[in-house]
Amino acid sequence: MKATTPALILKPGREKSLAQRHPWIFSGAVDRLVGDPSAGETVAVYSAGGEFLAWAGYSPVSQIRARVWSFQREVEIGPDFFRQRLKSALEWREKLISPEETNAMRLVHGESDGLPGLVVDRYDDILVVQILSYGAERWREDLVNLLVDLTGVDTIFERSDVDVRSLEGLPERTGLLRGRSVPERLIIYEEEIRYEVNVQTGQKTGFYLDQRRNRARLKAYAEHREVLNCFCYTGGFTLSALAGGASRVLSVDSSGEALQIGQRNLTLNGLPENRAEWFEGDVFQVLRKLRDQARSFDLIVLDPPKFAPTIAQAERAARGYKDINLLACKLLRPGGVLFTFSCSGGISPALFQKIVAGAAVDAGVEMAVVERLSQGPDHPVSLYFPEGEYLKGLVCVKQ
Ligand code: SAH
Repeated sequence: MKATTPALILKPGREKSLAQRHPWIFSGAVDRLVGDPSAGETVAVYSAGGEFLAWAGYSPVSQIRARVWSFQREVEIGPDFFRQRLKSALEWREKLISPEETNAMRLVHGESDGLPGLVVDRYDDILVVQILSYGAERWREDLVNLLVDLTGVDTIFERSDVDVRSLEGLPERTGLLRGRSVPERLIIYEEEIRYEVNVQTGQKTGFYLDQRRNRARLKAYAEHREVLNCFCYTGGFTLSALAGGASRVLSVDSSGEALQIGQRNLTLNGLPENRAEWFEGDVFQVLRKLRDQARSFDLIVLDPPKFAPTIAQAERAARGYKDINLLACKLLRPGGVLFTFSCSGGISPALFQKIVAGAAVDAGVEMAVVERLSQGPDHPVSLYFPEGEYLKGLVCVKQ
C-alpha cells in the first residue's frame, strides 16, 4: 500500500481489542480519519501512538466503522490476498466434510474465515453468496471470479436480502451472478436423507445448513418415539426423526410454503406419510393448545428463529425462550428428551442454559443435560471472534 492510503487513527487505549485480533473497529474507538476513503475502501488502522495495527475495509455509516482484512503490514489487500483466504477456507471444508456426509455446506463463514462480511454456501453445484459489509461489497466482482475459479462451479446466486445490510447503508439485492438459471427445486442430501431446497426464495440462503450434524444426532434418540418438532421449516428434524424410526412426528411452523416442501421431502425420501402430521401455526399458541388438550410427547425439538440478534434484545428474547421451553418441559413424558436451540448471537451458551433451567424449575420438572450441541464445523468460530458462535443447543432428559 502506498503512502496515500487513507488511514484511521484510534483514540488512546482503544487498540486493545485489535491487539487481541478482534476484527471489528467500532465508531466510538475512532479518533480521526486521514484522507477521504470511499465506502469499502481499504484503510490502514493506527493506534493513537502511531503504531500500525491492521488493514481494514471502511464502512462510513455502520457503527462497525471498519472490519479487519489483515493484521500484517506487508500484505496487500487485493485479488491475491482474497485467493489465499478463499483457498484456505475451501481446503478446510474438504478435509472436514466428506461427500458421504453431504453435498451442501457453508464454504465461507465471514469473520471466522478471515473474510468479514462474506458468506458463501454450496448447494450441490450451485453457490449462494451473501455480501454483508461495504468492505466485501467493494471486492464483490473479484470474489465472485475467484469463487468460480477455485470451485469450478459455474452458477452463483446472490442472496444479499438481509436486514444487516441496512446497518451498512447498503440496499438489499438478489439475483444471478453467474450462470444461466437456478432450478426452483434443487435436491441436496445429508447422509441418506434428501431435501428439496429453493435458494431463490427459501429462508437464509435456502436451508439451515448449520443444523446438519444435530439433525443427524437426533436419529439416535428417535426410535419408537412420538415426536413434536417445533419451528420445523422444511422438515429437517422431522425427516431425521422418521429415518431414526420415530412412531409419529407432529411438525409445526408458521410458513405454509416451508410445510409444503416438508411434505414433498417425505415423498422424496419414501418415508411413511401416515406417521407425519404438519401443522401451520404459531408455536407459542400451538404449545398452549397441546397443553390444554393434555397431549404429551417422548421427544420435542425447539429450533426457533433468532429472537435476539444483538445483546440489546436479550431480555425480551429470554422471555420467549423461557416460555416455549417451559411449555415443552410440561409436554414431555417422563424419560422424554428435549432438543432445545438458540441461534441468537445476543444469548451466550451460559445464559441459554440458565434460561432453560429457569423454565424447568417453573414447570416443576427434573431435567439433566446429556449433550451440548453447536453449529457444524463448516461454520467455524474464530477464537478471536466469539460472536461467531451463535448456535447453541442442549439435549435434556426429563427424569
Ligand atoms: N429446524 C429447522 C430450521 C428452523 S428455522 C431445520 O432444521 O431446517 C425457524 C423456523 O421457525 C422457520 O421455518 C420459521 O418459518 C419458523 N417460525 C418463526 N416464527 C415462528 C412462530 N412464531 N411459530 C412457528 N414457526 C415460526
